[in-house]
Amino acid sequence: MKQFYIAGNWKMHKTVAESVALARDLVSKLGSTRQKVMIAPAFTALASVAEVVKGTQLRLGAQNMGPEEQGAHTGEVSVLMLKDLGVQTVILGHSERRHSYREDDALINKKLLLALKHGLEPILCVGETLEEREAGKLESVIGTQVRDGLKGVDAAALARVIIAYEPVWAIGTGKTATPQDADAVHLYIRKVLGGLYGEAAAKAMVIQYGGSVKADNAAELMGMPNIDGALVGGASLKPETFVPIVDFSA
Ligand code: PEP
Repeated sequence: MKQFYIAGNWKMHKTVAESVALARDLVSKLGSTRQKVMIAPAFTALASVAEVVKGTQLRLGAQNMGPEEQGAHTGEVSVLMLKDLGVQTVILGHSERRHSYREDDALINKKLLLALKHGLEPILCVGETLEEREAGKLESVIGTQVRDGLKGVDAAALARVIIAYEPVWAIGTGKTATPQDADAVHLYIRKVLGGLYGEAAAKAMVIQYGGSVKADNAAELMGMPNIDGALVGGASLKPETFVPIVDFSA
């Protein structure tokens, strides 16, 4: 049976105490899940949540990281600091970083290479805006984000990368791509990967869908052949909305 990778992005929500409480609840409720599950609290809660998830089936993720190992970079958090806390995964190129903080493909690629160098699992987020989709630019936008995001990644390292397809217009809006539309983009991403790394590597790639995933649409999305998991924002903030997504097939 296929294992799905469900990740929760808590964004800029929750104090340390709230994060610890949610993580504890998830550990107790997801103890026997067969899926791969990751939670990404705010930087401020990483150390405390790390203690909660240590030795459990829950992976610890960060929502971003700086592009340098260390130095004079006020306000940034480095890969070495994340490693030090036991972080295993890092979300890179989230649309909120691309659009609100002007992160471009070159910067995201720099971070991705650094994450790989230090043994973190990067989740590379890609996605088009509604304007780009309506202008017929979907494939060129996604193709560029995938190709430029992965520049310099060899085939062995690719196996440690996750891609999340998150149409910008579906994030936090309650709008979801239809499972068929999402699957078509995932298939296109595999085609791009196939051109870069060969068909076997493209097929083996884990590609998550993100954008208003909820308990009531998870099963249908995960039922599509090219969707291997979900990156969940809003619904990951409460056990009663996140756990049923992880358990969608149950
Ligand atoms: C996200 O932030 O990656 C996301 C998909 O958010 P939401 O599930 O709230 O749309």
